[in-house]
Amino acid sequence: LFDPKKVFQDVISDLENKIKEKNIELIFNSEIELMQGDPFIIYTILRNLISNAVKYSHKNSKVYVTITNSEIIVEDNGIGIREQEKNRIFERFFRGTDSKKYANGSGLGLAIVKYLCELANYKISFESQWMVGTKFIIKLA
Ligand code: ATP
Ligand code: MG
Repeated sequence: LFDPKKVFQDVISDLENKIKEKNIELIFNSEIELMQGDPFIIYTILRNLISNAVKYSHKNSKVYVTITNSEIIVEDNGIGIREQEKNRIFERFFRGTDSKKYANGSGLGLAIVKYLCELANYKISFESQWMVGTKFIIKLA
């Protein structure tokens, strides 16, 4: 058992430069103080999802992170994902047309997240509207 808030704070401090540079406000919501599972897996999932939310958000926006006993949600009001690219975002080395203009990256983050979700038996899904925002949902066990 571990404290999800602490893991969240580790992620935030790792991404501190990017978050400050773009003046992103992170809003953390958790009803739980103890969480089951492997903290390193949760850390890596959060780190990649929050990194994306920050990278693909406009300056001065908010990113919402919610953790409950049954799910992790990371939501942004950023550039969103084009309809025709939605089926490719978990592919290794895939980067969206807009994201290439917007930020650097290798296209590996979501492939790693997907792999870890399979390993831990979590279900990952997302909702996104191009130019509106994106929400990733991880259902835990
Ligand atoms: P990195 O390896 O540094 O994470 P990346 O962010 O480009 O590079 P992924 O995290 O795997 O790679 O994401 C793949 C693609 O999915 C991104 O290039 C982008 O097009 C799209 N994407 C992922 N998250 C978001 C998001 N929150 N908002 C908009 N597009 C996103
Ligand atoms: Mg990424």
